[in-house]
Amino acid sequence: MEKKITVLPGDGIGPEVVASAVRVLQAIGKRYNHEFQLQYAEIGGAAIDQYNNPLPDKTIAMCEESDAILLGAVGGPKWDNNPPELRPEKGLLNIRKTFDLFSNLRPVKAFPSLLDASPLKREVAENVDLMIVRELTGGIYFGEKHRDLDQASDLNIYSRAEIERIVDNAFELARLRRGKLCSVDKANVLETSRLWREVVEEKKEQYPDVEVEHNLVDSVAMKLITNPGHYDVVVTDNMFGDILSDEASVITGSLGVLPSASIRSDNFGLYEPVHGSAPDIAGQGKANPAATILSVAMMLRYSFALLNEAAEIERAVSAVFEDGYFTADLAKGDSRALTTDEWTDRVIAEI
Ligand code: ATP
Ligand code: MG
Repeated sequence: MEKKITVLPGDGIGPEVVASAVRVLQAIGKRYNHEFQLQYAEIGGAAIDQYNNPLPDKTIAMCEESDAILLGAVGGPKWDNNPPELRPEKGLLNIRKTFDLFSNLRPVKAFPSLLDASPLKREVAENVDLMIVRELTGGIYFGEKHRDLDQASDLNIYSRAEIERIVDNAFELARLRRGKLCSVDKANVLETSRLWREVVEEKKEQYPDVEVEHNLVDSVAMKLITNPGHYDVVVTDNMFGDILSDEASVITGSLGVLPSASIRSDNFGLYEPVHGSAPDIAGQGKANPAATILSVAMMLRYSFALLNEAAEIERAVSAVFEDGYFTADLAKGDSRALTTDEWTDRVIAEI
């Protein structure tokens, strides 16, 4: 298979973790005979410094003619006082909007050797393997806003078409996983939620192999802590998804191992770690590249349908943790922490 990938290293530890992930991608390409063509472009602070624009047209053009995007992280203290249009984070918002990446996937999987880092009890956290699917381009964050002296409002608006496409996406993802879907809403009080529930009920006829449940967001917020092992795929709107995906992410106990994807219906997608640019450790070889490496696995699975190759990367990452090799953020007691590159070498050796 031949695929073209635009790589956007970004700022802080972005370039370091992306370099690791690219090495893993090349190792997989070699092992399974795929040609992954890489082209590099700027986003965020790096793009502001060079082009005075957090998402230059040149970067958009390159992304347009590629099959997927791999992104590191954007932002840092250097640009914190910039005007809103010249903030690195603006580049990220713009790229999601430009490419209509409406479905945000955040898988959370417990690695047995990392369970000590989880705030949950071992027996609660150990079976966790879930994915939050968040609608990313609609809802209350994008609805009309009003301010009238001492009164304010935000419009929460969803069309049937917007709900249908995210729900279809979630059903398809559930099929690729354990075939369970939990749709989260607040249908006891919100009209958008009643439409959401209606659409899920209609759609489930097309996916008889997927088991569906509806749950209220307040109840899911509790169950993610008391019984997270219950969930496979969780689909919800923009705001509920924002909150629940951050809640779920703390289960693993480490930002350094959480991948994410933002995709659309034709399987084009942007893949990036959940963590930010971590300016405090940038340039020191301390960054944990696992989240970005696992984001590459997501790219192989969801954009290229290379399921074995994706599983192989995930297996290799797991094996390196099980063998007791960690970067500084996870190394415990007397075990020596590996550098970003050394840890990546271990993963490649596994592949
Ligand atoms: P942003 O605003 O872009 O999210 P941030 O610095 O506020 O950036 P993160 O970059 O996510 O937030 O970092 C939060 C903390 O977690 C930092 O102390 C950072 O060192 C640590 N951290 C984040 N990602 C990693 C990683 N991949 N490896 C090791 N430590 C990390
Ligand atoms: Mg931050």
